[in-house]
Amino acid sequence: MSTTHRPYNFSAGPAVLPEEVLREAAAEMLDWHGSGMGVMEMSHRGKEFISIHEAAEHDLRALLAVPPHFKILFMQGGGLGENAIVPLNLSRGGQVDLVVTGAWSKKSAAEARKYADVAIAASNEADGHTTLPAAAGWQLRPGASYVHLCSNETIHGVEFGALPDLAALGSDAPLVVDCSSHILSRPIDWARVGLAFAGAQKNIGPAGLTLVFVREDLLDRALPICPSAFEYKTVAAHGSMFNTPPTYGIYIAGLVFQWLQRQGGVAEMERRAIAKAALLYGALDGSGGFYANKVAHDGRSRMNVPFFLHDESLNEAFLAGARAAGLLQLKGHKSVGGMRASIYNAMPIEGVQALVDYLNEFARRHG
Ligand SMILES: *Cc1c(COP(=O)(O)O)cnc(C)c1O
Repeated sequence: MSTTHRPYNFSAGPAVLPEEVLREAAAEMLDWHGSGMGVMEMSHRGKEFISIHEAAEHDLRALLAVPPHFKILFMQGGGLGENAIVPLNLSRGGQVDLVVTGAWSKKSAAEARKYADVAIAASNEADGHTTLPAAAGWQLRPGASYVHLCSNETIHGVEFGALPDLAALGSDAPLVVDCSSHILSRPIDWARVGLAFAGAQKNIGPAGLTLVFVREDLLDRALPICPSAFEYKTVAAHGSMFNTPPTYGIYIAGLVFQWLQRQGGVAEMERRAIAKAALLYGALDGSGGFYANKVAHDGRSRMNVPFFLHDESLNEAFLAGARAAGLLQLKGHKSVGGMRASIYNAMPIEGVQALVDYLNEFARRHG
């Protein structure tokens, strides 16, 4: 590498983190704020870690304007863990309606079937997960315990622009949102949400930490078989310290929240995400068919951009050239093929511009 910056990392997750945060964490690795301890070595019940935890929760609540009647839980188990933890806590063993827009919501449906009577309220599977099913056509059952959707499908690159208003669709079921891969890149309309969850490894920090935002009136519904460490009511009652929380993950997340505030918060992240996505989709759409993203325009993700070369025999050469140009982890998910560029909050627009320059140059050489 002859560049002075680190390579640009387009991994879908675990993914790029702000370099400033990594440097801060490195500087504090052996001694956090004069305590004589690294964060990984601290008791989660000591005053040092409690201050880290409280600041992280406070900053997250402020960044996303989370209302007071929502609890914020720092949990473990990832997004797939929540696919089981949510029905264990909210389904009452009854009906759950799932909106399928890609691989993640499909997995959520399969897991919820272990605990509940699951029906698919809408699905875009017939078109290869490339469109957003219009909410007016969703088949919502009146008795459903909740309705689940994935607001950004990381693999298929399909993102909801706005969350549906279930009440306006005649449903009083709470909405459950898996927002793992675009949390903190746009505001969340809490009036439309009962519960939202996100694995940290896309837009927040290290894998393992899982954020849950749950409306207080939903805390008391867990099935008796729900493990105590995964029961929202128990976790909430202990301030996310029923068992040892993922302390280092919470610390890094807290540094990322501070970084976000210094950048201008979620509004600024959204402005940048719009600009980065416009730049990248513009290059793909303007390539004269050399590259293609197949998602309908109103469902295109600002965070995860899958694309294909018109001549797939060039895929290996494309990836090798990208690596040589300092553009890492562009290979698409194995279930979709092709390429995928994930352009999370920590990806600067300079990285997207470098990718666009490479896309153009590669097309010129091979077009
Ligand atoms: C990555 C991801 C998950 C899975 O998270 P794990 O931590 O691997 O369990 C779930 N949902 C979405 C939308 C994701 O992007």
